[in-house]
Amino acid sequence: MFSMPLLAIASDGARLEAWMMSSAEWEALKASYRTRGLTADCCGSAVVPVTSQTGWQFFCHKGADCPVRESPYHMIAKTVVARAAAALGLDVTTEARLNDGAAIADVLIRHPSWAVAVEVQLSRIPLIAIEDRQERYQTIGVRCAWLVGYDVPGHHPRQDLPLFRLVRPKTTDAVPHVIVTDADGHSGRTGLAGFTTMLLTGRINFQGPAMPASAPAVVSITSECWRCRRDIDLFTALINVPEHTIFAPRGVLSARDLTKIPQLMALYRSAIPKLLKAVPSLTTVRTPPPGKEAGGARAHCPWCDAPISLVKLPDDVFDSHRWGRCWTLSGDPWIPGPTAAR
Ligand SMILES: [Zn+2]
Ligand SMILES: [Zn+2]
Repeated sequence: MFSMPLLAIASDGARLEAWMMSSAEWEALKASYRTRGLTADCCGSAVVPVTSQTGWQFFCHKGADCPVRESPYHMIAKTVVARAAAALGLDVTTEARLNDGAAIADVLIRHPSWAVAVEVQLSRIPLIAIEDRQERYQTIGVRCAWLVGYDVPGHHPRQDLPLFRLVRPKTTDAVPHVIVTDADGHSGRTGLAGFTTMLLTGRINFQGPAMPASAPAVVSITSECWRCRRDIDLFTALINVPEHTIFAPRGVLSARDLTKIPQLMALYRSAIPKLLKAVPSLTTVRTPPPGKEAGGARAHCPWCDAPISLVKLPDDVFDSHRWGRCWTLSGDPWIPGPTAAR
């Protein structure tokens, strides 16, 4: 099987990443690619955008002389990891050249303050070869997680070598699973997208020093609805979330910016029933209506549904001393400890 890259370079130098293109963009590329001079980054030969029967988008080599051998399984794993990381608001590239091209990371995920490579290794290679590449990543300041398609006897994911077992799905076009062991030592299978989210948000248990992680929690201030004048707990921020330099410095995400990180918005939305059961006076946050996006997400009164702007909150509402009542997304009261505002 020839490689099925997700990345193609157009003759004008544009980098086209199949995994991030919408199906409409992909169809448009399929109609126009002949004039774009697309080549693969692996071998420089001409490539064509294709869609698998089940909708996976990738580039196919026209010729047969590419030295890289990769299966659809490999292409799907990269696509799923890249999309899950991008959903967290992170900067993602597949088949990323590092170290002046000396290394190519299957998926490279960049945050303004860190970089993580995810390598999908399906054919068996000696552990020493993996450790070797891990060391090379370390020297350029990139943390690397490995998803291997075979058993490595006696290996448990460690901080210095996060290596996980990828499980081949029953059909060739399905999403693979990852074997993950929880804090109690139970191992189970997690879908690759969910695994990627857990990995990048510090929710995977490793042997060795544990990563500091607290559950995301909702912070509120006491307020009053402008319309019905009833008392409300105005949801102002989600805290203990993965750090994002723009939207969530110190792990504090303003409720106004919640819709900018779709993964966290989805997490919050799924928690709304539990939150409202625990705190009936808590405002809910919704996507702004068309035309009002500039003001960010809006709060809604739990009693009369009036929209409440989150634009003019005093600056210090995001400082931990101003936090009123807090609840985890399971609706449990939560008290900010000394590590709360990391
Ligand atoms: Zn190639
Ligand atoms: Zn109201």
